[in-house]
Amino acid sequence: MSGAKIETVTCDVLVAGSGAAGFATALAASLHGLDVLMVEKEPLFGGTTAFSAGVIWIPINGHQKAAGVSDSREAALTYLTSHVGNRLDRAKAEAFVDTAPAMLDTFEREDFVEYELAATWADYHPDEPGGSQGGRSLVPTEYDGRKLGPWFEKLRPALTTMMPLGGMMVGRNDLPHVFKMTQSARSAWHITRMVARHAHDRLGHSRGTRLVNGNGLIARLAVHAFARGVPLWLNAPIAEIVSNGGRVTGAIVQREGKPVHVTARRGVVLACGGFPADADLKRKVYGHLAAGKNHQLLPPSGNTGDGVRLAQAAGGVFHGDVHEPAAWAPVSLVPQRDGSTVPFPHFFDRGKPGYVSVDRRGQRFVNEAQSYHVYVPAMVEACRNDPVVEAWVVCDHRAIRSFGLGALGPRPMRIAPFVRSGYVKMGQTPAALAQACGIDPSGLSKTIADFNALAAKGEDPAFHRGSDAYQRFNGAPGHKPNPCIAPLLTPPFYAVRVVPGELGTFAGIATNANAQVIDTHGQPVPGLYAAGNDAASVMGGTYPAAGITIGPAMTFGFIAARHIAAPA
Ligand SMILES: Cc1cc2nc3c(=O)[nH]c(=O)nc-3n(C[C@H](O)[C@H](O)[C@H](O)COP(=O)(O)OP(=O)(O)OC[C@H]3O[C@@H](n4cnc5c(N)ncnc54)[C@H](O)[C@@H]3O)c2cc1C
Repeated sequence: MSGAKIETVTCDVLVAGSGAAGFATALAASLHGLDVLMVEKEPLFGGTTAFSAGVIWIPINGHQKAAGVSDSREAALTYLTSHVGNRLDRAKAEAFVDTAPAMLDTFEREDFVEYELAATWADYHPDEPGGSQGGRSLVPTEYDGRKLGPWFEKLRPALTTMMPLGGMMVGRNDLPHVFKMTQSARSAWHITRMVARHAHDRLGHSRGTRLVNGNGLIARLAVHAFARGVPLWLNAPIAEIVSNGGRVTGAIVQREGKPVHVTARRGVVLACGGFPADADLKRKVYGHLAAGKNHQLLPPSGNTGDGVRLAQAAGGVFHGDVHEPAAWAPVSLVPQRDGSTVPFPHFFDRGKPGYVSVDRRGQRFVNEAQSYHVYVPAMVEACRNDPVVEAWVVCDHRAIRSFGLGALGPRPMRIAPFVRSGYVKMGQTPAALAQACGIDPSGLSKTIADFNALAAKGEDPAFHRGSDAYQRFNGAPGHKPNPCIAPLLTPPFYAVRVVPGELGTFAGIATNANAQVIDTHGQPVPGLYAAGNDAASVMGGTYPAAGITIGPAMTFGFIAARHIAAPA
């Protein structure tokens, strides 16, 4: 720091970052009676969480208990031990499983969050020891963005590709109605009400105010943080950690370009959302980038690993010994009018009946109904000798009308504009479609013929699609005999190209079970904490279930606040 006089501000806890981890920390600290300051680097708050579905994975949660869904501490820890293997940090895993239900109970009691049971949303590997057939992943309820008042316009919107009609949010619970809107009066009424509310909203707002998913989660957290008097500075990156005698005592924050010395009497919490937008660090730890291959950023561009570098400068260490350095998702690129593209993450269409995914040889490479985190490494492996990592999600006309394809929704959304923009490729035969995509025509024709041969019977001997409860959950309910499989028979055929992307990083700052940043000797750096994607994932680089980043992000924020508040 130079000798020039700079503004000084004092608080108990300084929280850097305004995603799920940041808000959870701030609210929990406020409940402990601490004086909190939140700082956010970007002009908008909410981070990746605002893009997300907002789902949280909380074993032995109160909603399960109320609905009579059985679960136990032992089962949850058995599942993590089995799935994560020797990269599981047992102490952190126990801290998570033991604290997550209390975090949720506390936050729901205070109205900071509101979640619903998804009783059939199974863990991603439900047949592994301790796996759940449903109930640990919880879905946020909708929230009225108007409660934010003028802050509404400062809330990061969801990805534009996930908001049809110029800013209407569609939640996980809306999707079944989207798929059935032309077949069921109830679904048609649900969608009509959504569209009517949206039309009304657009008279006075830049987008719809019926917030669902991570946008609704962040809005609700923010409303309560503001009501409790927690200030949030925008355009205010934490830039330097200040220490005194080995203890972190505060930070320099660049508020609107001007340095402010923030003294944090009790602690500084890094919740800057990891490093998905740091090209250099990613090249070091993302295998396919290190090999010179392509990758598409999905989280916001401000998540540049600031927390990681600040922790390292203060004595912390980077933990890169994880199964996968990031949470992967296949992403298609939706052309925009100005010539740019916006990413669309493929969570659901891949595993529905009437779809297959193929590489440039026209060959399948994965069980398409498994999670996005499984799909991308399989795609990278299939393309190991190709200049580019890419695949195509292929379907027939019946399927695209029922479930859509990427950013193109189902009937009544029009297909033609997406074909015209080049986003969706089309052909009257598999071979013609292959030619339009640049895929080997004979390869794709043979793959579809082979798949079709057994698809009517619901069988997929090559990859066993639909073989567990998670895959079936994402299929088409009621579609028999296998909710994930139907032959591709009805022309025209369609395809959209997907490339590797991430939902956030898994490698990160080494922390202990109290969310404290630890040094090379495994000792805490006094006064310094990390939560959310800034901290190395408690899942060891695996993706065991929906909500395994935001659930732990909020839980370790809660733990950090509890530790900070505890008497020294
Ligand atoms: C489309 C999509 C869907 C997803 N769905 C889910 C889901 O349903 N469930 C789930 O568990 N995960 C989901 N994820 C992943 C999840 O969104 C992230 O893992 C999670 O939101 C990270 O939370 P966070 O609080 O650590 O970081 P973020 O939410 O990214 O917040 C970090 C904030 O810190 C700010 N920041 C960065 N540097 C600084 C600095 N120097 N000073 C101050 N602020 C700084 C950033 O600008 C950002 O606003 C999804 C991701 C995507 C992209």
